[in-house]
Amino acid sequence: MQELKKRIEENENQVITTHKSPDGDAIGSSVAWYRFLKKKNRNVVLILPDQPPAFLLPFLRNVDYLVYEDNPDYATQISCEANVLFCLDYNAKGRVGTEMESLFDKTTAFKIMIDHHTNPDAFCDLMISRPTVCSTAQMIYQCIQEMGELDKIDVTIAEGIYLGIMTDTGSFRFPSVDKHTHQILAHLLEIGLEHHHIHEAIYDVNSMDRLQLRGYAIAEKLEILEGLPIGIISLTLDELNRFNYQKGDTEGLVNVILSIEGMQVGAFFTERKEGVKISFRSKGNYYVNEFSARNFGGGGHKYAAGGESSDSLDVTIERFKSLVWELIP
Ligand code: 5GP
Ligand code: MN
Repeated sequence: MQELKKRIEENENQVITTHKSPDGDAIGSSVAWYRFLKKKNRNVVLILPDQPPAFLLPFLRNVDYLVYEDNPDYATQISCEANVLFCLDYNAKGRVGTEMESLFDKTTAFKIMIDHHTNPDAFCDLMISRPTVCSTAQMIYQCIQEMGELDKIDVTIAEGIYLGIMTDTGSFRFPSVDKHTHQILAHLLEIGLEHHHIHEAIYDVNSMDRLQLRGYAIAEKLEILEGLPIGIISLTLDELNRFNYQKGDTEGLVNVILSIEGMQVGAFFTERKEGVKISFRSKGNYYVNEFSARNFGGGGHKYAAGGESSDSLDVTIERFKSLVWELIP
């Protein structure tokens, strides 16, 4: 924490980065950290590998951010001018995508990781890695606290922290939630955060297409593997197009599988132009991160992981089915 504080205070130009396909924790922790650094009078730019889904855009208001994919040269220039580069909510270079990954070789900035995923790669100069913490957003609060700067947390910083904790804990219900989580939330409300606005901004912004895609996926595409507490959903590109798929439309759909009584593992397969993206969720003694790392080049947490496959959708699903025995405790 002393090193973190020193690097913030001694350096003028700071860049924040987060992972590709940013989720609520990526955006929440990044905007909270951005606003905190602004309060410390730093020059700060947030670089996102790709566009965030529309429902997260309201949280980026008044944040100076750029999208690497849209302007790689400028993003590279900014990173090279920076003295410090933060890596939030990811712990392996590859999570920013193959194009943006090259940035790490170009910039000479001091790299600081703040992250809660397991098995961090040692690609940063300072690594703050806490795999037992529910979200990077909670770590942001704790870093600010441990640096003795809690008085800097205002409502706009609180909003980002709440967003990240809420979205990474399934609204405060996963085992990763601890007493500190609730103490932090209490403090955020004390400051004046109107938490119901954040729930509405995330959960009550469905389009008809999005809701109907979910309805279709549940009614027509949900399959329980025979005799196993494992369910899968898959969607082809055609099916996504039929419902005018927008980024983020299938977010959380995998959790629906675990809401069926007795289910312990959910797997969600999405066909991409190239290959298949997979989301895993689990409960109890079923762990998906190592399974995903071993078989689908992915990773994540015990109970929430993701991976990829370059095979066709059907082949990927068959491969998953042939491997599920590895998941049984
Ligand atoms: P989601 O299913 O929400 O996309 O991801 C769940 C968790 O798995 C996230 O914490 C994310 O960091 C991790 N994850 C998702 N996709 C990948 C991947 O392709 N590689 C790795 N290493 N982790 C992933
Ligand atoms: Mn996270």
